[in-house]
Amino acid sequence: MTDWIADERKYLFQNYGRQPVVLVRGEGTRAWDADGKEYLDFVGGLAVNVLGHASPVVAEALALQSQQLIHTSNLYYTTPMIELAKLLVENSCLDRVFFCNSGAEAIEAAIKLARRWGLDTRGGAFEIIATHDGFHGRTMGALAATGTARYREPFEPLVPGFVHVPWNDLDAIRSATGPKTLAVLLEPIQGEGGVNVPSPGFLPGVREWCTSNNLLLILDEVQTGMGRTGTLWAYEQEGIEPDIMCVAKGLAGGVPIGAVLAREAIAAHLVPGDHGTTFGANPLAAAVGTATLRHIIDNGLPAQAARASERLAARLRSMEDRLPVVTEVRGRGLLLAVAFSRDIAAEVVASCRQRGLLINGVRPNAIRLMPPLTVTDDEIFRACDILDEAIAAVTGTPG
Ligand SMILES: *Cc1c(COP(=O)(O)O)cnc(C)c1O
Repeated sequence: MTDWIADERKYLFQNYGRQPVVLVRGEGTRAWDADGKEYLDFVGGLAVNVLGHASPVVAEALALQSQQLIHTSNLYYTTPMIELAKLLVENSCLDRVFFCNSGAEAIEAAIKLARRWGLDTRGGAFEIIATHDGFHGRTMGALAATGTARYREPFEPLVPGFVHVPWNDLDAIRSATGPKTLAVLLEPIQGEGGVNVPSPGFLPGVREWCTSNNLLLILDEVQTGMGRTGTLWAYEQEGIEPDIMCVAKGLAGGVPIGAVLAREAIAAHLVPGDHGTTFGANPLAAAVGTATLRHIIDNGLPAQAARASERLAARLRSMEDRLPVVTEVRGRGLLLAVAFSRDIAAEVVASCRQRGLLINGVRPNAIRLMPPLTVTDDEIFRACDILDEAIAAVTGTPG
């Protein structure tokens, strides 16, 4: 039998710390490894698998479009990109869409769009305020925006023009604003940074500050979008509207895609030649995106995720009461984290894996849960039972 893990170690870059599991198949919230062991998958492809594994919605759209037209280039009009753009515009506060292939690419495009707008309307203002622990991707511009020094520092010099301020601190944004400031770039809830939910009033305060100082508010909804937090977009729960929004991860249910949405008056500043990408607006990805987004909207999956979240969060909070090592349950919708008083996340992740539950350590002292929007109550209860047992096993306390 092939030793897949040995071969991975031999042939691939060793830039990921993978869990020792070879996943070969999935269905809904369940996945199986090469030995036939079954897991409940509460990582959900890092918030990508919004409809779960092997969703017929995704599979049928893929099959159908693959027999029609997979790729043409942006030299031509194709219909799936227009359908998906229309659906995104009709279901958001924004007016126009640019397609790319990933979250980082959406951030890169948003940065270029903002700078182009700044050149035309703000006398060349270029500086973007971002936050400590904010995560925007690994390419040079997105990395410059990312607020974690250890991700950035080995690759300096990065793209200039980014300043970082503490998360959830409106005064810091006010103080960092100067004549060269162009935009504020934020996640509505910090995902990779540890599932950090802003205080009530923070995002509305940022929106007001941006409006009164003629700054763009760029929201990175790459992780929080597509219904994950209980509404299609997380900004809806804050009573605000961004000027530019980045989407990716779950947009095509697992097929690579990214998108930037912008207000008409801003999007108009990007003209032919300014930006583009070969695979962007690819008919295959766009057709699956349309099927995924339409399914989410038509079936009320954001509200379903909010109801599932109540049950999941209630079970997790009961652990907070019973297990002293559990210090906090935070997040919104199906983007939740459990924090511990000690750095036991890696051990809890390993113990859960052995017991058939996949979760992810988002901080040394916190784990993150991001099941598909379609997760069932039974799956939630089983996952919580496993997590409970795993925490008890790691800390030596009875569950
Ligand atoms: C994952 C993520 C990105 C980067 O997306 P990639 O597709 O990995 O490039 C950017 N922003 C946020 C908020 C993310 O969670």
